[in-house]
Amino acid sequence: MKIVNPATGAVVADVATDGAAAVRRKYQAARAAQPAWARVPLKKRLATIARFRERIVAMHETLARTLTQEVGKPVRQARNELNGLLARIDFFLAESAKTLREEKVHADAGQKLEERITHEPLGVIANISAWNYPYFVGSNVFVPALIAGNAILYKPSEYATLTGLHIAEMLREAGVPDDVFVPVIGTGATGAALLRQPLDGVFFTGSYPTGAKIAAAAGRKMIKVQLELGGKDPVYVCEDVDVNAAAAGIADGAFYNTGQSCCAVERIYVHASVYDAFVAAFVAEVKGFQSGDPLDEATYIGAITRRPQLDVLKKQVADAKKRGARLLCGGHAVKGKGNWFEPTVFANVDHSMLLMKDESFGPIIGIQSVADDAAAVALMNDTEYGLTAAVYTPDRRRAEKLLAQVNAGSVYWNCCDRVSPRLPWSGVGHSGIGLTLSTYGIQTFTRPKAWHLRGV
Ligand code: NAD
Repeated sequence: MKIVNPATGAVVADVATDGAAAVRRKYQAARAAQPAWARVPLKKRLATIARFRERIVAMHETLARTLTQEVGKPVRQARNELNGLLARIDFFLAESAKTLREEKVHADAGQKLEERITHEPLGVIANISAWNYPYFVGSNVFVPALIAGNAILYKPSEYATLTGLHIAEMLREAGVPDDVFVPVIGTGATGAALLRQPLDGVFFTGSYPTGAKIAAAAGRKMIKVQLELGGKDPVYVCEDVDVNAAAAGIADGAFYNTGQSCCAVERIYVHASVYDAFVAAFVAEVKGFQSGDPLDEATYIGAITRRPQLDVLKKQVADAKKRGARLLCGGHAVKGKGNWFEPTVFANVDHSMLLMKDESFGPIIGIQSVADDAAAVALMNDTEYGLTAAVYTPDRRRAEKLLAQVNAGSVYWNCCDRVSPRLPWSGVGHSGIGLTLSTYGIQTFTRPKAWHLRGV
């Protein structure tokens, strides 16, 4: 499989992929290795992950540059992702022992009865991953899953394969046995072959259409399935905001990582009384973003990682124009080498437009005027997705009242496009099922076993 730099179109590597027979062999090896890993004392498994953290620190710049080369992410943002990864690992190192501790929930001396819960690893799981934040979305699964005693068949996205191989190498150097964390390399066909193995769980990050296929493939197996999928995340700007500050924060939430974030801002609703002022401030902000060589320290907008996404963006632009939206900047793919799209802002949009319905996953956004809070909530909830939603206002009570009515896994007051290791990361509707992160995101890689113990 050829690894192509999306910024230049140049081939940067050629890697061997796993066919169905290789996937089967890897599965069998992981199955054989898992029980011994589960018997390693938790303290030692945690020490292994701490050594993995040390490897990341030592390799930091190489990892950042590899990521930039294969996904086109601006190098400063690649470094930020690695720094965020260290913070997530720290959370798991600090919280796992108490979260996985066995719990005595009842004791009755008279009846000589005791009840306890232990947290057993699931066994052998598949971790099928996305390319847009490969360190984040991968580590949300494999770090707590390894700590909990599972073996993992890890399929990085075909667009982030070199990063996936770096991860496997660093875990091996840290002391994770070869057959306990096993990279499985290839495209969707390799992922499908992986799903044909008798796994104990599937943890997937990617798009809704692929997630639906994964759910169908796993359905009859009666195994744990977690799907972290896409979003069409809204922001509502109230009339009492500092317009310039809100525009700057929301533009960053929409365009960071070139708009290729699951929780990127994808729809903006602005109270009619500040609509014109907000739109002007927002466009000025976007026009200040520097596009270009992702290895340049000053670059903020990088390449579009997957070439077919250019067609999705072009289609959304054409559809919005046809339906009467006003194009304020951008609107075109950039001709030449690599995959590039101009940062694009539309005003006067509505929900008849693809731009306000389908995940864009690129540097493009629509801004719609709303009459009042009730209209904003109705529009925010008018989506098949439900990953995140934000409200900007200095009035906390008003924000909390609005956010309580929004169907989303995460809600934000005066911030957006944000993930915390301390909070559960989940979505409703087409944004997925299950969760990662927080202490729930440690327990999710275990099966609670119920012990009823009666003395004689
Ligand atoms: P994708 O669905 O195209 O691919 C994801 C993974 O699935 C890849 O590894 C791919 O090879 C594999 N795959 C494809 N077909 C398969 C099949 N039939 N069987 C098994 N595996 C298969 O998604 P992508 O382009 O890598 O990622 C972008 C999407 O991911 C966006 O929708 C984004 O919003 C979402 N995402 C969600 C989160 C979250 O936390 N909710 C985080 C990051 C990305």
